[in-house]
Amino acid sequence: MNALPETPRLEIRNLKRAFDGRAVVDDVSLKIMPGQVTCLLGPSGCGKSTTLRLIAGVEMQDSGTIHVDGNLICDTVTRVPPERREIGLMFQDFALFPHLSVGDNVAYGLRKLPRAERHARAAELLERVSLSQYINAYPHQLSGGEQQRVALARALAPRPKVMLMDEPFSGLDNRLRDGIRDDTLRILKDEDTAVLLVTHEPEEAMRMADEIALMRDGRIVQQGAPYNLYTRPVDLASVSFFSDAN
Ligand code: ADP
Ligand code: MG
Repeated sequence: MNALPETPRLEIRNLKRAFDGRAVVDDVSLKIMPGQVTCLLGPSGCGKSTTLRLIAGVEMQDSGTIHVDGNLICDTVTRVPPERREIGLMFQDFALFPHLSVGDNVAYGLRKLPRAERHARAAELLERVSLSQYINAYPHQLSGGEQQRVALARALAPRPKVMLMDEPFSGLDNRLRDGIRDDTLRILKDEDTAVLLVTHEPEEAMRMADEIALMRDGRIVQQGAPYNLYTRPVDLASVSFFSDAN
């Protein structure tokens, strides 16, 4: 069955996870449409990475549901394993495989495809990130920003429905970061994937998000377009979070 246009690509409802009796993700709900970038923004320790881990399926929620294109992939009974969720992942430590060429890194998630298709898809993705000339190079021969783009190509190669990105720019040199953010955004926007990007930097969320979900102590305290969050903060703690960061 094809998803209806108005079906969110990713929908999580009332997600909860506690560690040692302490709620780390506390009743989190989010909807992301195809092609939309939502930033999960909040201070260190507020539960952002745990939320991503629940969606990726490497951590199990205590309650709540996760749907992709309207299909249930996880509740307390059903549990689609991580590798079958059609979810791409990109983390700060995006670790390419050092012993594989750039092309083989990008093709890594395509092992089930016939060789020729695998090659064609890897070449297409490398062209998309403007690195075609490095297809036979090895990761150590590339700059940090180039490696970042290879990691993006690798994550996008299997055509994930959802991309989860956990502080993907924080390891990069300040001078390069804005350019890489813009490039990444442009590449993501060409795909029809829903993006959930975690950051603790308001500036990054303002730059990249269609929608920001502001998280504090495991809860989403405010959600909306960047401009609305910035100009109409929900409480004083949000005001100081936005201004401290600047
Ligand atoms: P963020 O990504 O926003 O910095 P995290 O989701 O990594 O926050 O962590 C939120 C809180 O949950 C932290 O206090 C962290 O120590 C705790 N936490 C995360 N994972 C575990 C775990 N497996 N066991 C116990 N506590 C955890
Ligand atoms: Mg984190």
